[in-house]
Order: sequence, then C-alpha cells, then structure tokens
Amino acid sequence: MSLIVQKFGGTSVATPERIKHVARRVVATRGAGHHVVAVVSAPGDMTDDLIAMARQITGHPPARELDMLLATGEQVSIALLAMAIHAEGHEAISLTGGQARIRTERVHTRARILGVDRRRIDRELAAGRIVIVAGFQGITDDEEITTLGRGGSDTTAVALASALGADLCQIYTDVEGVFTADPRLVPEARKLREISYDEMLEMASSGALVVQTRAAELAKQYRVPLEVRSSFVDREGTIVAEGTMERRRVVTGVTHDRNVAKITATGLVDRPGIAHTLFRAIADRHVNVNMIIQSVPRPQGADISFTVARSDMAAAADAARGVAREIGAEEILADDQVAMVSIVGAGMISNPGVAARMFGALAREGINIELIATSEIKVSCVIRAGEVERAVRALHREFELDKA
Ligand code: ASP
Ligand code: MG
Repeated sequence: MSLIVQKFGGTSVATPERIKHVARRVVATRGAGHHVVAVVSAPGDMTDDLIAMARQITGHPPARELDMLLATGEQVSIALLAMAIHAEGHEAISLTGGQARIRTERVHTRARILGVDRRRIDRELAAGRIVIVAGFQGITDDEEITTLGRGGSDTTAVALASALGADLCQIYTDVEGVFTADPRLVPEARKLREISYDEMLEMASSGALVVQTRAAELAKQYRVPLEVRSSFVDREGTIVAEGTMERRRVVTGVTHDRNVAKITATGLVDRPGIAHTLFRAIADRHVNVNMIIQSVPRPQGADISFTVARSDMAAAADAARGVAREIGAEEILADDQVAMVSIVGAGMISNPGVAARMFGALAREGINIELIATSEIKVSCVIRAGEVERAVRALHREFELDKA
C-alpha cells in the first residue's frame, strides 16, 4: 500500500467548514487505497495572534515559553481535523510533534529536525488509522517542545515523507501550484507542470512563497517527490522532482522579493580583515546576509553593499555602525526602499547571454540595477521597490514565459 503525506496550511484550516473540506479530501485519498499522514498548520492567523498575545505580556518572552505557546496553534488544527475525519466515519488519530517523535535540536523558535522515530506512526497506520501530525513543532531529547521557524509545517511534511519513505508529499495551499511569476503581478503567468528541485529551491529562496525554503532544501537533499497544489480547487498542481535533462528551460520563472533592505558601508580602507570584521559583527546579531557586493577600491576607499531581510535592517545597520571606526567606514547607509527580482532556470548553465538579456529588458524599462548576484541557475537584481511590478512583467515578456 502506498503512503501519501498531505500538508495543509493555515488558510486551508482557517474555519470549521474548511477543516471539514480537508477531512473529506484526506478521507478520499484513504478511500483510494493509500495510507495517509496529514500534516497541518495552525488555523488562519493564529500563530500571529499568539505572538501578539505574548508581546502584550512582555517585549521579551523567553523563547522556551514562546514555543510552548505557539505549539498550541497546531494542536487546535490536529484535534479538529481528527474530529472531522471521525465524523466522516473514518478512524483518525492526532499526534503532536512530540508524540510523532519528531526530534529536534534544543534551539527554541527555530529548531532543526534531527530525526524522526517512525514507530508510533507506523503502529497507527498499521491499525488502519489516518495519522494527523502537528506541523511546525518537535521535541528535544529531554522532552522540551520546540518550533521550527515560521512556515515550518512544510518542513515537517517533507521530513516525515522522507523518514516514512512516502511515495508522494503533497503541499496543499491557497495557490494552484508554482507559477512562472506571481499571478497577482502578471495575469498571463502560467502554472508549471513540473519543476526541478534546484529550481524550486532557488525560486523559494528568491521570493516565491509557495514552499518554505528549508522544506525545498530538504526535499532536494532527500529526493522527496513533492506536489504543490490547491486545497480549494481539485486540479493537478506542480510536481517537484529530478529535472529531466533534455527538457531544461533556460528560464523557468521570475520571482520577486519585497522583503529586502540594502546596507552600504562607504570609504572602507583596503586591507585584509575588513570584510571579516564587518560580517562577523552582522553574524553575531544572527542576521542572515543575502547578496554581498564590494566595489573596486579607489583613492577614496571601497564600498561594500549587502542585503538583508527588511526586519533585520536596523540590527544589521547597528552592527555595522558598531565596527565603522575599526573598518574605516565613512558612512553606513540603510535603505529599505529596494526589492529583488530574479530569473531562475536550470538551462541557464549552458546558455550564455541570459543575464545580458535580463539586463537589457530592465534597461529598456528604464529600471536601474543597484546590485547583481548570480548562481548557476539564477540571476538576481536589486532595484527600487517601486519598480518591481514593471520589472517582473518585463522579464516575463522577455523570456516568453506566457508560452508553454
Ligand atoms: N503556524 C506556523 C506559522 O504560521 C507554521 C506554518 O504555518 O507552517 O508560521
Ligand atoms: Mg501559519
């Protein structure tokens, strides 16, 4: 008997009606003869609401207690879904992350999964039950409840699919799959039938919000077959799998990310250790840096620019100012009126001139590029925030992504 892991996000379980809808979908999969493990997120905005509640108590809630609080959101969903499945006349059992033995490191609010002890889930499946597991949470070896970071239910689903050797991991969400661009910006954007792990990972990390980046990374690492599809309309979604070499597209999709801020340190002295001092200070604040660009040193010094998430801008600028004297910086500039547009495609490796075409399309729109970063299958440009929509549309047109 095959095993399918189905993950339902917060919007899919936001109301009792939607929970019943999810129950029917899970039961239908069971009825088609598959074992089912369902992973659910907290209903609607519950996680945000719980965080807001904690903030009303204190500006600095202890991380352990925050995890204790946040883990309750998913517990609401698993219990209600189990009830809904029972009401459909099927056997189901809900399990917290701890009960499902999802073992994590002891790092609160952003723990990583160390492993899954599958015995309990196997027993429940063998007894013919549908197993419903709380997403986004796990347990340490000393029985402490942890959470996996925002959006972590995707990671739970992929980790379970891998540990259980599932035949498929379906991510049910509020969009119909992975698109060539955000359909809210580009009406002619197309749903992709299939995408490679590498492309999914690059798209997720550059702003496509359909799958959490860590989950995409895990799926790639353990070759977990994924499908991203809608919980509202019953239609085929996007399959994420090993790319077939022949069918590689030069550009598969255009992504954008508005959650970007740019920090620039100007007039830096030109000697070894400057970048180390600067980025050590940033890392000490646990701030993730995305792009880094250093200019050629001129008599007046060199500049280093880098990007961080907008919410990290203040901390990053502060850290840079703290070492400004040491690195000989004239000024530390922080700019949150920027955004990033990227093109992603596995066929880029073997096709020269793709980046040039991207820059040309932006130039014709009169869009100035402030920073550029590339990987083997992605080119990203930082531009003014107000120009994102035009940039995404121009790139979608340039690479003819509306055509199949
Ligand atoms: N409920 C958690 C969050 O809102 C986890 C998830 O939705 O995947 O971040
Ligand atoms: Mg959520």
